Amino acid sequence: MNNIYFNLNQLQKTIMYYALKYKKKYTDIKVIAISKKRSINEIIQAYSFGQRAFGENYVQEAIKKINNIQLKIEWHFVGKIQSNKVSIIAKNFAWCHSITSKKHAELLNKYRPEILPPLNVLIQININCEKNKNGIYLYKLMNLVNFIYQLKKIKLRGIMIFPNQQKDIQQKIILYKKMYIILMKLKNKYKYTDTLSLGTSYDIEEAIASGSNMLRIGQKIFNKKINNH
Ligand SMILES: *Cc1c(COP(=O)(O)O)cnc(C)c1O
Repeated sequence: MNNIYFNLNQLQKTIMYYALKYKKKYTDIKVIAISKKRSINEIIQAYSFGQRAFGENYVQEAIKKINNIQLKIEWHFVGKIQSNKVSIIAKNFAWCHSITSKKHAELLNKYRPEILPPLNVLIQININCEKNKNGIYLYKLMNLVNFIYQLKKIKLRGIMIFPNQQKDIQQKIILYKKMYIILMKLKNKYKYTDTLSLGTSYDIEEAIASGSNMLRIGQKIFNKKINNH
């Protein structure tokens, strides 16, 4: 059996299982296949098995794939934003998960073509104040939220976190639930701010338990990389 097919099937079962366990609606949980460093062929395979949303971290790598794959893929940018690449992100992606500054927001809004629907954006939060991690500190969140709400061509859909992996599941759930509560507060004000992008191959259970509705899964779909080349 094809590996990617098998993996996608397993993943679906895993998500169903945890959705049931934590009383969440299975159909509300969306999977973004993180395809950084994966080949065009692997992406096409996953697509042929029903996967529609893919996430990329590096603009140069992503743009090659986007230009060479003629399929109706929903592309998500999940990497660190560099100012000189913002216009490429604005023009080629449906979602951007990693806004951390007003400057990014302003530039994405500026370069988003009028003919495309607004770019869906998430603010990336650094919840543990981890050094060398992308994301804003919590106390700066509302200021950036209010700024983005004024912009017409980008639409604030929620928040994203990508914490270092810790061992203690309960600790993670406490931390993640805080993010869910913050999101609910935003959603009370703006109905379409409804997305919590949280959870990778190694914390699917904690993410679902905490109310994540967007999982970013790489290895559990495309298999573990044996080396980094
Ligand atoms: C690579 C990556 C993922 C996926 O991680 P896996 O362990 O492969 O599931 C998720 N989010 C971001 C931002 C990533 O860079």
